[in-house]
Amino acid sequence: MARDGEGILMSPFEIVMVSGKGGTGKTTLTACFAALAEGPRVLADADVDAPNLGIILSPRETESRPFFGMKVAHVDEARCTGCGECLRFCRFGSILMKDGKAVVDPGFCEGCGGCLLVCPEGCIEKRAFQRGVLKRGETDFGPMWHARLAPGGENSGMLVALVRKEARQEATELKAPLILVDGPPGVGCPATSSLTGAGLAVLVVEPSRSALADLRRVIDLCGTLSLPFGIAINRWDISPVVTEEIRSVCEAEGWPILGAVPFDEKITRATSDGRIPVEEMGRPLVELWRAILQRGSAKNMTKIKIGIPSLGAETSSAVADRFARAPWFVVADESGKVLESFEGTGADEAHGAATKMLTTLSEKGVSVLLVPRLGPNAINFAKQAGMSAFCAEGLTVADALAKHTEGKLEKLL
Ligand code: SF4
Ligand code: SF4
Repeated sequence: MARDGEGILMSPFEIVMVSGKGGTGKTTLTACFAALAEGPRVLADADVDAPNLGIILSPRETESRPFFGMKVAHVDEARCTGCGECLRFCRFGSILMKDGKAVVDPGFCEGCGGCLLVCPEGCIEKRAFQRGVLKRGETDFGPMWHARLAPGGENSGMLVALVRKEARQEATELKAPLILVDGPPGVGCPATSSLTGAGLAVLVVEPSRSALADLRRVIDLCGTLSLPFGIAINRWDISPVVTEEIRSVCEAEGWPILGAVPFDEKITRATSDGRIPVEEMGRPLVELWRAILQRGSAKNMTKIKIGIPSLGAETSSAVADRFARAPWFVVADESGKVLESFEGTGADEAHGAATKMLTTLSEKGVSVLLVPRLGPNAINFAKQAGMSAFCAEGLTVADALAKHTEGKLEKLL
C-alpha cells in the first residue's frame, strides 16, 4: 500500500497501455512514460508473445524462472499398447500415433483429462509443461517484470496475469504508487488478462483506416470490464483527416481523448539509436502524460474499498467482535458510502474461515479493513494481499468509517 501527499491510503495504481492492433507506437509511449513518471514505479511488459519494452529500457536481469502453464496429458511410451482409445476420445486432436504409440502434442492439449479415463493401461498422466519464462530486471526507472511465451505456447493469459501479479506485489512491497504496464495488442485472452482489475487503460491509436474499428473493440472490452479508459492518438499528423474523424467520433460517443503526439523523423532515429524519445516527442508527450495522471488520480480516489465485519447490513450495526465469523460484511468507499453488504459465510466453516472471508473481500477489491482484532494467519494473508487494517473494536460501522476518515483508528497492519 502507498500513501499520497495528503496521507490518504492508496493501492498501487496500474495504468495499462493497450491498442486494437500492433504497431501503433504503444511500447515507445510506455517507455517514455516510464521515464517521465516521478517517484517509485514498477514496470511490466504484459505483451508476452512479443515483449519489446525491454529492447528500449534494457533491464539488467536479476531473476529468471520457468513458467509452467496448466498440466497437460503425457503418455508413458513404454506401457502404451497403441490401442488408440485416447486418440478416438480426444476432441481436440491433441493425440497422434507415432510408431504404434500415442503421443500428446502439449501445444494442443486442453488438459481436460478425458484420455486418462479411457486409457485401458492407465499409462497417461498429467504433467506440468514449461510454456515460457518469467523475468525480472532493473531499469533506470525502476524494476521491470516481463516474460516470453515459448513459440506455439498456450496459456498467454495466465502468463500475463503472472507478470502483473509479480509487478503488483513488488509495487506493494516498495510502496510504489504506480505500475505502468505495456499491454498486448488486440482484444483476445492476453489483452483481457492485462486489463482485468487495472486502474486505467490508455488506448493508443494512430490515424489509419482501421483505427476506429480497432478502438471500438478495445472500448467494448473496457466496458465489459468496467474499466475507465482514455485515448492517446499517436503520430496524429500522418493523416490529419482521419485524426479529425477519430476526434469527432470520440466526441459524439463521449470517449475521452487524453492527447495527441505528432510524428517526427527524430523520434524514429532516437528509438533506432536505443534512446527513449522523450525530448523528441516534446511538449505533446508531457501534456499527454499529465492528462493520463489526471484521469488516473480521479479514478484512484474512488478505487479504495473498505471492508468491515458487522452484526447487520446497515451502517448503524455494530462492528462484529469476531472477524472470521461475522454475520455480515459491509463494503464502503473512502467517503463512507456503502457500496454493498453481504452475509458472511465464516460461521459455516470448520477451518480457515478468516482466510476465506479475506479472499472474498480481496476479490471484491477491498484494500482496507476496519476490524476488531485479527489472528496471526489472517494478518499474514492480509499482508500478502496488500491490505491494511485498522482497529474498529466496539464501534458501529458508521463510527468506524468516520473515525477512519479522520485518521483516528489504531493501525493494526
Ligand atoms: S487431456 Fe483432454 S485434450 Fe489433452 S490429450 Fe487428453 S483428451 Fe485430449
Ligand atoms: S489409450 Fe492408452 S494404451 Fe491406448 S493408445 Fe492411448 S495411451 Fe496407448
